[in-house]
Amino acid sequence: MKICKFGGTSLATAGGVAKVCNVVLGDHERRVVVVSAPGKRTPDDRKVTDMLIACAEARLAGKPGRAEIEAVIERFAGIQRGLNLPDSLTDGIRKDLAARMEGDIGHKGRFLDRMKAAGEDNCARLVTAELCRRGADARYLSPREGGLLLSDEYGNAQILPESYSNLAALREAEWITVFPGFFGYTRDGAVVTFPRGGSDITGAILAAAVGAEVYENFTDVDSVCAIDPDLAPDVKPIPELSYREMRELSYAGFNVLHEEAIVPTVRAGIPICVKNTASPEGLGTMIVPERKHATGDVVGIAYNIGFCTISMSKYLMNREIGFGRRLLQIIEDEGLSFEHMPSGIDTLSVVLREADLDEATEKRVLERIRAELGCSDAEIKRGLALVMIAGERMRHRIGTAATATRALADANVNIEMLDQGASEISMMFGVKQEDAPRAVRALYDAFFGRL
Ligand code: ASP
Repeated sequence: MKICKFGGTSLATAGGVAKVCNVVLGDHERRVVVVSAPGKRTPDDRKVTDMLIACAEARLAGKPGRAEIEAVIERFAGIQRGLNLPDSLTDGIRKDLAARMEGDIGHKGRFLDRMKAAGEDNCARLVTAELCRRGADARYLSPREGGLLLSDEYGNAQILPESYSNLAALREAEWITVFPGFFGYTRDGAVVTFPRGGSDITGAILAAAVGAEVYENFTDVDSVCAIDPDLAPDVKPIPELSYREMRELSYAGFNVLHEEAIVPTVRAGIPICVKNTASPEGLGTMIVPERKHATGDVVGIAYNIGFCTISMSKYLMNREIGFGRRLLQIIEDEGLSFEHMPSGIDTLSVVLREADLDEATEKRVLERIRAELGCSDAEIKRGLALVMIAGERMRHRIGTAATATRALADANVNIEMLDQGASEISMMFGVKQEDAPRAVRALYDAFFGRL
């Protein structure tokens, strides 16, 4: 049994939905289908999820948000008409959206999540209708009935363990189950969503719950590439990646697969296959527990922007017992999570996501570090990008760091921070945001040959 998940760009138009249905019906093992909300039709179009957020924001601002809602209905109606499905489907979507808009706004996060979930939920209904019109026995399943229970962290939910046994029943279904991605329910029955892009997580959870043979993740690229293909033409596709390589690269900016979608499949040992909806017969990229293909030492180079560092120094910091703990306590008291903590003998930096650190928090954190830790020179640097090279075989190779730093120096990129995780399968360079694309190209040249 295969679990297949289709991303928003594959479901953006009637033609896209038709292709998705061809793919599903092209293999009788594709028995559980997870869908995203319709995405962008053109580069300057809007995703339905963003349009739904606009609806919610209008309501929260005390406005009726009629134009915003009509725009969403029109997106779905376009797909319904394009597929010659009955108008009653669009009527149902209209009613559903109206009910969500009229919902309680007392808890902002809960209201927003209920609105956001409408994209996947209604898309799943449309896909089910199209599969049925073609004669298939396809049935929509709500995450509530399926038993996908999540923590009540609105917009950032995590799976509750009982979900796996609840969802295991899907294995027995003799029909095609169409399951909306991105959201589930709290134990007290409220809609709650994963982080953005979270339909990938839904697919991974279902794959683990039913013990699928493979989790097929259909998107708009033929395979995962060694660097972001927008950075250069003819970038090498990656035939195979280990879970750990994918996890590192997704974290560092490869947005083909959500970084949290790896964990459920790793635990269940299920391979993931990233494929293009437009060419389902292609091999795509396999993400497996242990890689068999012997490719180069570095398999991928990713980058992500939006980080900042809090740096401090203090003479004899190395001998001060409890310094790190007290620093992390300050970070914890502010409800911040830190990404990395590179350290020297008398210096320490903490890397955080810029978006988490507003001006007031920044001021408080710096004051406390100065007063409580005695580091008068503590400072925050914003505009940092993290560039990562990753590959299982790096661990056994001498000179990878030398090749990388040489390449960055030759490209005139200043390394602000360097960090190699304990796993030794990745190395991370903190560089100025504006230098990141140049840094990635230089590293690609060094490890994969000139572009
Ligand atoms: N539709 C949601 C988003 O745009 C979730 C997803 O597509 O996976 O973030």
